[in-house]
Amino acid sequence: MFLTIHDYEFIHSPGSIQPHGVLLALSPSEFRILQVSNNTENYLGIKAKDLLGQLLSSFLDKAQLELIQHYSLSESEGVNYIKLYWRGREREECFDGFVHRIADTVILELEPAVCEAQVNFLELANMVREAIAKLKRTSTLKEFLQLAAREVRKITNFDRVMVYQFDAQGAGEVIAEAKQKELSPSYLGLHYPATDIPQAARELYRRSLVRVVPNLQAAASELIAMDNSQTSSHQLDLSLSVLRSIHPCCVEFHQNMGTAAIVVISLIKNDELWGLISCHHRTPKNISIELRGACELLGQFVSSELANKVIQEEVDYKVKLESLRSEIIESISQAQNFIDALIQPEPRLLELVGALGAAVCLDGEITLVGATPTLEEVEELIDWAHSRVKDNLFYTDSLPKLYPKAKTFKDTACGLLLLQISQIKRYYILWFRPEVLQTVDWAGNPYESIKIAADGSVSICPRQSFAKWEEIVRYTSLPWLAPEIDSACALKNAIVGIVLQKAEEIRKLNQDLELSNQELASFAYAASHDLKEPLRGIYNYSTILLEDYASLVDEDRIDYIQTILSLSVQMETLINTLLRLSQLGKAELHLQATDLNQLLQQVIEVLNASYQQVNFEIRIPRFLPTVRCDPVLVGEVFANLITNALKYNDKAQKWVEIGYLDREGEEGMPPVTFYVKDNGIGIQQHHLETIFKLFKRLHSQQKYGGGTGAGLAIAKKIVERHGGRIWVESVVGEGSTFYFTLG
Ligand code: ADP
Repeated sequence: MFLTIHDYEFIHSPGSIQPHGVLLALSPSEFRILQVSNNTENYLGIKAKDLLGQLLSSFLDKAQLELIQHYSLSESEGVNYIKLYWRGREREECFDGFVHRIADTVILELEPAVCEAQVNFLELANMVREAIAKLKRTSTLKEFLQLAAREVRKITNFDRVMVYQFDAQGAGEVIAEAKQKELSPSYLGLHYPATDIPQAARELYRRSLVRVVPNLQAAASELIAMDNSQTSSHQLDLSLSVLRSIHPCCVEFHQNMGTAAIVVISLIKNDELWGLISCHHRTPKNISIELRGACELLGQFVSSELANKVIQEEVDYKVKLESLRSEIIESISQAQNFIDALIQPEPRLLELVGALGAAVCLDGEITLVGATPTLEEVEELIDWAHSRVKDNLFYTDSLPKLYPKAKTFKDTACGLLLLQISQIKRYYILWFRPEVLQTVDWAGNPYESIKIAADGSVSICPRQSFAKWEEIVRYTSLPWLAPEIDSACALKNAIVGIVLQKAEEIRKLNQDLELSNQELASFAYAASHDLKEPLRGIYNYSTILLEDYASLVDEDRIDYIQTILSLSVQMETLINTLLRLSQLGKAELHLQATDLNQLLQQVIEVLNASYQQVNFEIRIPRFLPTVRCDPVLVGEVFANLITNALKYNDKAQKWVEIGYLDREGEEGMPPVTFYVKDNGIGIQQHHLETIFKLFKRLHSQQKYGGGTGAGLAIAKKIVERHGGRIWVESVVGEGSTFYFTLG
């Protein structure tokens, strides 16, 4: 509803009251009647104009006047309840009275005492006590408010009692409801825009804790003032008046719901209006002053307990988020795959901050969870949000207002909470919330009751306010709460902690590995070095034996000695290989720019000398590059590979091709890959890796000229010392190609 200044004044000073009682505005000390409602004849038997100017003492006895005096001076804001006996013309009549002072005026309101069989005071006291005891035993806020609705309904006997909570903008939601079984529909979960109960009305609810409207349709009674009165009836501030007439909008609002009578109990938290307990009845219905008092008391109890329950609720929520976070962290710290641990199970990551969608971005790889914009949209969004990150975070509940492109995906991401995990790498977690309009259940069709008169004027009505509200909340999501933001920050710290811990573990492992490598190398060196000594002895003594005793012993024994000799030669070769390998691990590389064409030339010359009898061809299709390497060692790699290519070759016309692959070694490209290709016997698929192991041979010593099985292990070691790698591809019977890089 669009309230103008006029409406605001109307709410405070309508100049009229509800007709189920009378109002007397009195001068402060002598209690002269300055203003009065024009319905006094119905209740007091005296015409309103006859009352004006009279002293209250003409109608009430001294004790009652003193009581009114006492209450009118009371410091506390709000009305005071009092039983009064009015001396009418015929007899004394009992009234429920309400006294308060506003500015310089004392206001006395009288309602005929409701004597019918409503519950009596003691019964009421018991009911309230019982209700309080039950309310105290509830644990959650929801349970508490649901019970409050039920207990208020029990006490008031109204058809429907709802607890209505305001959000920060003043919009409301029905969060608890107790109603007569056959009454439908339920209003539970329905939302109302802020303007349905405008600020001015909310302020009045904050100040007076119980509002009773026994008959929404009853015509108001006007106030009339003494001719010489200082204030006109329309200036009289009725903010705290219990009989204050009701705004036509409010009447319409409730009539739309089929309500004829209402009692509204204010719920106050930290001096602010937190919500309302709203009681509706389908037929006119009043409540006694005792019942009103009971409602007020119960309302006050609910209000004071509310603060605890809300705090408890927040604490519970925090604890829930913390436990979700610990679960995620535990999964991450144990998992091989970071992403899987983070997003499985999916709801966990979303619940961590109360989102409906999330995106995890690790460099170029984005994983989406729940309701999210598209991959491309998320990517663009990260680019945009990147510069807005502060303290690893960026969040907003109105993304489209800052980033207009988000309008296209407002249904998934009006709210964004972005967490930056690394400042160096593009690592982010983004959480999304949809536009609040999409998530809210509206009380009826919000546009239904807009009324446009024949002359085109739009009449004020509650639902017109929806458009206004819609405008306010368009492109916004529910706000991110402090515990949710904290939760995201804590997740980041934990992830960083895990990464650091893992890095430390890896560093330690590397250190240990390095140490044991060194130990192994020096052991191998020492062992092979020391073994050579006795071996030489065995060899020498066997030679002596053979020379000196060859003529004295039989052939078998000579064979034995010769076997000892050849075994010791073989063993020396093995030991030398070990020594070579351990030296390779330790020795410094003599890196220099090396023209591989020259290097290869030298290697081939040596080979030609040893393979004079063999028919082979060495092909070098194009010039090789100049690279930075240790020429002696790389020469050994080529020699090894070329020798093998010729050795393991049963073709009549053997050839070996040496070259390198195209488009590599340029800037941003992988290092040059060299190859040595042959038309030899080939290697079976399952041996392609094992042949690089030390002493691993695929053939007996008798075949293909024998060997130690160390050549490829040494080549591998050399290549790895250069930071490169070596591998082979092969087709049995056709040939093999060995590839290697040099870092
Ligand atoms: P060795 O040649 O002394 O046996 P290597 O370490 O050089 O030891 O080679 C290991 C094994 O790999 C060889 O015994 C051989 O079976 C196989 N091999 C090596 N190069 C080739 C090749 N070009 N073609 C086929 N088999 C090969």
